[in-house]
Amino acid sequence: MYPEDYKESIAFHGHSCPGLAIGYRAVKTAMGKAGFRKAEDEELIAIVENKSCSVDAVQFLLGCTFGKGNLIFKDHGKQVFTFAERTSGKAVRVSLRPGSLDAPKGLSEGDEQEMRKRMVERILSMPEEELFTVEHLRVDLPGKAQIRASVVCDLCGETTMETKIVEREGKVYCIPCANRLSEKGS
Ligand SMILES: [Zn+2]
Ligand SMILES: [Zn+2]
Repeated sequence: MYPEDYKESIAFHGHSCPGLAIGYRAVKTAMGKAGFRKAEDEELIAIVENKSCSVDAVQFLLGCTFGKGNLIFKDHGKQVFTFAERTSGKAVRVSLRPGSLDAPKGLSEGDEQEMRKRMVERILSMPEEELFTVEHLRVDLPGKAQIRASVVCDLCGETTMETKIVEREGKVYCIPCANRLSEKGS
């Protein structure tokens, strides 16, 4: 009874849950309101303000991932998602409305698994405007992911991105090695 692409999102995420359903609806809302489509390259950016289950729907359905540099995480603990097109700066901000997930009477009975299932069904079938507040905006986007030079750490010998290297007394260290040396006090 679930939409095909929600079923595929479950396969990616590992289980069905209210968080995944929220992410799924947020993506669908952005697609509907701004015409965004899955990013083949890095043209679409997602800025997510939480690191919960919902983000997996964003990664799977929109192709916005850490690896491609088009998934930006802000640790705000909010179910807020901003989707933006790099070329145009066109963006849509989708935020979960307060109280939208409050269970109506009768929905809070039953075991936990059953309740989760009902909550998922509710999220998937709720009218968009009851679930989210949607704003259209323009954003300044970060540049494309850059290929950085690599440097070999003088302590562990592992290759490290140049920008993450710590220099100390003419030597170069990766962050964990630099921390280890600091702890030793040398
Ligand atoms: Zn989950
Ligand atoms: Zn090292």
